[in-house]
Amino acid sequence: MYHYYKLATKIMGRPTIKDLMDEIDELKEAISRRDIKNIGEEANDVIHSLARKIRLPNIVVWKIANQTAMKHATRMKKYNCPRSLRNHLRAITVGRCCCETTKK
Ligand SMILES: [Zn+2]
Repeated sequence: MYHYYKLATKIMGRPTIKDLMDEIDELKEAISRRDIKNIGEEANDVIHSLARKIRLPNIVVWKIANQTAMKHATRMKKYNCPRSLRNHLRAITVGRCCCETTKK
């Protein structure tokens, strides 16, 4: 699955500060809802974004944020896009998803 994760990172590029802040906001929301399962997922997303932001090697990010990395890898394997199916389909309908502009 690491192969699919590497493809996903090429499409996703590096997160911006705003991307990182958005992930932190999602974590805060999960904490305020006391949603334990979601807190775990969102915390992993924050670690994943931060690790990508500071340019840790893909294999290191894969290991320290594996839950999120696997999520992107699974999506790549299923429908060739690292975004959620909902976001991918929404973007496709207006003709510009990140997965269409990046050559694999
Ligand atoms: Zn897409």
